[in-house]
Amino acid sequence: MTERSFVAIKPDGVERKLTGEIIKRIEQKGFKMVAMKFIKPSQELAEEHYGEHKEKPFYKGLVEFITSGPVVAMVWEGKDVIATIRKMVGVTDPLKSDPGTIRGDFGISIGRNIIHASDKLESAKKEISLWFSQDELVEYTPTLDKWIYEN
Ligand code: UDP
Repeated sequence: MTERSFVAIKPDGVERKLTGEIIKRIEQKGFKMVAMKFIKPSQELAEEHYGEHKEKPFYKGLVEFITSGPVVAMVWEGKDVIATIRKMVGVTDPLKSDPGTIRGDFGISIGRNIIHASDKLESAKKEISLWFSQDELVEYTPTLDKWIYEN
């Protein structure tokens, strides 16, 4: 069964011109892009997206940061895409992320960690429907799939 993940390049990643590099990594892994938009998130969208952190001390600064500039919001599809992109992203703190991961290669601060990626199926579903409407999710079958998947 294939699944979908919500991924967003945060304002620091966009400002630092890491958009192409990040898309390249996910694309070259073999995952399929289903949706993408360039958007400056509203206060409402940011608060909803980070709702689970409402009571945390970093919440206010996090919402301010994510609404401070444009974000590249995407949906990626493929086998085990959620866990695999999380591995490619690294852990929350870039200094604790292994080299070779996006945060490990490009970040230093926890509050400037470049990218968001869904952590589990339930949050992926919630985040995809929060950021995208159904008709923005593009259905297609890449002809290369037979070279990426054995079955
Ligand atoms: N964050 C922060 N300070 C902290 C912990 C988290 O600024 O002490 C921010 C950080 O940008 C992180 C986001 O809050 O990416 C969401 O936190 P979560 O624990 O969900 O981490 P993630 O799933 O992004 O690794």
